[in-house]
Amino acid sequence: MTSHVDASFSKEHNRKLILRHILNTPASRIQLAALTGLTRAGTGVIVDSLIKDGFVTEEIVKRPGKGRLPRALSIRDDALFALGINITRSGGAVGICGLSEKTVTQRSVPLSGVANARQGIEVLCRAVKAMLDADPVPREKIIGAGVTSPGPVDSSGGIILTPPDFAIWENFPIKSILESRLDMPVYLENNAIARTIEEQYYGLGKDCENFVCLVVDNGIGGGVVIRNELVKGTGGFGSELGHLTIDIRGERCYCGNIGCLELYANPKNFSAEARRAGRPVSGWDEIALRASEGDPFFTELVERMASYLACACTNLINLFEPQRIILSGELNTHSGLLIRHIQARVDRYRINRNIRQVEILPSKLIRRHGVMAAATVLFSRYLTSPIQ
Ligand SMILES: [Zn+2]
Repeated sequence: MTSHVDASFSKEHNRKLILRHILNTPASRIQLAALTGLTRAGTGVIVDSLIKDGFVTEEIVKRPGKGRLPRALSIRDDALFALGINITRSGGAVGICGLSEKTVTQRSVPLSGVANARQGIEVLCRAVKAMLDADPVPREKIIGAGVTSPGPVDSSGGIILTPPDFAIWENFPIKSILESRLDMPVYLENNAIARTIEEQYYGLGKDCENFVCLVVDNGIGGGVVIRNELVKGTGGFGSELGHLTIDIRGERCYCGNIGCLELYANPKNFSAEARRAGRPVSGWDEIALRASEGDPFFTELVERMASYLACACTNLINLFEPQRIILSGELNTHSGLLIRHIQARVDRYRINRNIRQVEILPSKLIRRHGVMAAATVLFSRYLTSPIQ
């Protein structure tokens, strides 16, 4: 009995190991055997079963010259799907997302008139049902739902804790309630961690074992991945990057700390400053655009934003020594000047500056109301858990 359980555990483990590698980069059977350390014969058996079950496709790679043409395996667009549910302070969004990342349907869900979390769940579930009724994705191919919200959240218990300015969802056990309503596994994660996982599977974290994702929107958050593992700390508060102190004599933060990054590098602060100076703008996009056109007032704002973020990045590099820091969120439009300033400062101050390069890069992921990031929380659990 035990050996049977062990064998199916091992088979499932190897199947998901191969799926993870194919998702990361399309590869041939021989390459997969080398990447996974499995035998060629064993790899072949698993690949055959993945093709038969409709997860992957194997196609000839066209190349010039003679000789046998290699075949590459890639994830089918209709392999697996997950629901993505993103709840923010300004509203919500739901989507059906494919593991291959190429299929995403989504709709935004207004939550402004909602009085409490129970009502919020009703509205979200109605939106999910309408989306499922309208979309021809076979129900058995949807393996669960990923849910994201502002932090802090208890991701293991599936409870939204006490995010500031998020009163109706406070201490709400969303995982268990949605699991019974949707009749599928549900995983909750804070939205900045979810974006980090999305970078790991689909973005600039794909080819990078050690990276930090710094998400700058109205709030600041992020995640740290070291040796391909997300660093979460004891209770899940291990990467509250917005609450790194950048000024020990600074302002008091709602979190209880002093001089937190989030108080200074908030794009809204800069828009407010521009308005007060008689240079009103529509948002950070316009500040960055005008700075890139050479306007000295806006250039100073971008330089100041860069100095705040560079201070945090230098601390993160000295603490974790990542290969790259991915900047995600509102600052990614016209971000060339900002990134150059952050990179220059980081390269002046980080302790390993003479030893290796650390890249500061803007995220390349298309933002889809956060539903793909939410779905990736589910995909990540599925691909790293031995048996569902
Ligand atoms: Zn704080």
